[in-house]
Amino acid sequence: MSFWVVIDLGVEQCVRCGTVYHVRARDLSHRTVDQFSCQCGHEMNSWRGNRSFSYELISMPQQEERNFSAFA
Ligand SMILES: [Zn+2]
Repeated sequence: MSFWVVIDLGVEQCVRCGTVYHVRARDLSHRTVDQFSCQCGHEMNSWRGNRSFSYELISMPQQEERNFSAFA
């Protein structure tokens, strides 16, 4: 049974690090306040109300540069 109505919003890419996520939304029976931040710390989205969003990691950016230092 598919109780939830899931809305497929396609892919979204982090403007900071390039990680790609598959975004879906669904409507809840209650209100929610939440947000999603990329693994790099960049806030991708924030929401409040009866719609919740989920982010599924699809691909990580290629790390071709050798001067890749530790995350601060
Ligand atoms: Zn990012």
